[in-house]
Amino acid sequence: MQAYTDSADVIHFIGGKTERGVGDRTQAIFNPATGVAARRLVLGEVADVDAAVASAKAAFPEWRDTPPIRRARVMLRFLELMNRHKDELAAIITAEHGKVFADAQGEVARGIDVIEFACGIPQLLKGDYTEQVSTGMDNWTVRQPLGVVAGITPFNFPCMVPCWMFPVALAAGCTFVLKPSERDPSASLFMARLLKEAGLPDGVFNVVQGDKIVVDALLAHRDVKAVSFVGSTPIANYIYETGAKHGKRVQALGGAKNHMVVMPDADMDQAVDALIGAGYGSAGERCMAISVAVLVGDVADKIMPRLAERARTLKVKNGMEADAEMGPIVTKQALERIEGYIASGVEEGATLVVDGRGLKVPGHENGFFTGGTLFDHVTPEMRIYKEEIFGPVLACVRAKDFSEAVQLINDHEFGNGVACFTRDGNVAREFGRQIEVGMVGINVPIPVPMAWHGFGGWKRSLFGDMHAYGEEGVRFYTKQKSIMQRWPESTEKGAEFTMPVAK
Ligand code: NAD
Repeated sequence: MQAYTDSADVIHFIGGKTERGVGDRTQAIFNPATGVAARRLVLGEVADVDAAVASAKAAFPEWRDTPPIRRARVMLRFLELMNRHKDELAAIITAEHGKVFADAQGEVARGIDVIEFACGIPQLLKGDYTEQVSTGMDNWTVRQPLGVVAGITPFNFPCMVPCWMFPVALAAGCTFVLKPSERDPSASLFMARLLKEAGLPDGVFNVVQGDKIVVDALLAHRDVKAVSFVGSTPIANYIYETGAKHGKRVQALGGAKNHMVVMPDADMDQAVDALIGAGYGSAGERCMAISVAVLVGDVADKIMPRLAERARTLKVKNGMEADAEMGPIVTKQALERIEGYIASGVEEGATLVVDGRGLKVPGHENGFFTGGTLFDHVTPEMRIYKEEIFGPVLACVRAKDFSEAVQLINDHEFGNGVACFTRDGNVAREFGRQIEVGMVGINVPIPVPMAWHGFGGWKRSLFGDMHAYGEEGVRFYTKQKSIMQRWPESTEKGAEFTMPVAK
């Protein structure tokens, strides 16, 4: 295995090899734990997108015609390689994203789950068949790959989120252009190399690094048939509208404000552990992080001191240190945004129980660190309740009963993930039925669906019809064709001028 970049610069991967591309715009990639610019990213231009799409288009006919079982075998070899190199990949993620190494390992493992799912593509592509729809005539449906498809991904899961997309798309017979996040782009090149080593033909998988220029070129390109996007809601909305205007199939997953309801009958130890892990894990930079605790009845009085103690004593360190519980924030700008939200919560009258601002980690004074922050008495009109902070800030709202908790969540603009902690089966059942959120956990704080179930939120957390990965993913990257067939020997002769009906 070669080093994961040819040079200190992170560049594109087009037609089976790394390419510097035509542009000379670059951007620093930081190690957020040290605050040091570790390497440079070369930002792509329209001509780089054209080259990547042309390469994917040229590779498509042969890849489409490769039997699904042979495409699955490439995925199987890729799966083996990902397993062999998973710790290297996790270290790359920690170095650019900042999340703790064990969490990065978890991210890679969840990406690998989708590759395993994609290995079952022969079974997933089986069509339907009806014999004798009319005398001497049969009808069947097949699903055929769309062609060149694109993926645009966020910084917070540089391995897992691309893996929600490309393994399914490639197994289904599409060819792919990935535009990773500018902030932690190296994982994409590492995976591109492993795909090549697994025997994927050149041009089937391409990576173009960059920013809005690359995204807009992909959205407008006539040879890109579909776009999968994961990122913040305003950009998801833009991608959906712009992609649709250019006639593309689009799935655009957006931001979140995930609530966790704690009912008075819940196991309080479990609820405290869940809120701390789901609120502060990965520094709150997960689209399924819990950012709002809805504490019903007297729950707040019972658990607030315990939450405060745990938030105050979180081990915030360089993610490569073995006992780190939380790493740095991805960029200095993101850190400033998060600490700005904390100031706005104070101004709007929430009770600041634990203030994580201004944390300095010894030996890492230039790192982008903030501690865990805890608010109590947060109310629905506050910005820290309405908007996605995307940092280690847990907002506690007090609700008088179950109905008030459900109403609060259903009224929120986002609907990605939600959880309810209770021991009451009927409360759990009613929560699952009534809640207007795409992914629900009962005593499970981060209910990210397994690879064969599909991932997707409701309301302004997802624009489009189909969820990521799982069978919905296979449907997204394929189109249905119905074929009717009869043979001269089994057919009555003569023109028909009326609507054909079964005979
Ligand atoms: P982001 O929206 O800033 O960026 C996502 C992608 O869009 C990146 O590749 C970026 O280069 C591109 N982009 C950014 N601005 C653009 C613009 N103006 N025009 C075109 N493209 C643009 O998101 P992020 O900060 O990288 O990631 C965090 C966000 O992603 C959070 O809101 C989080 O909730 C969300 N997220 C959602 C899910 C989900 O499944 N719903 C999963 C992970 C992350």
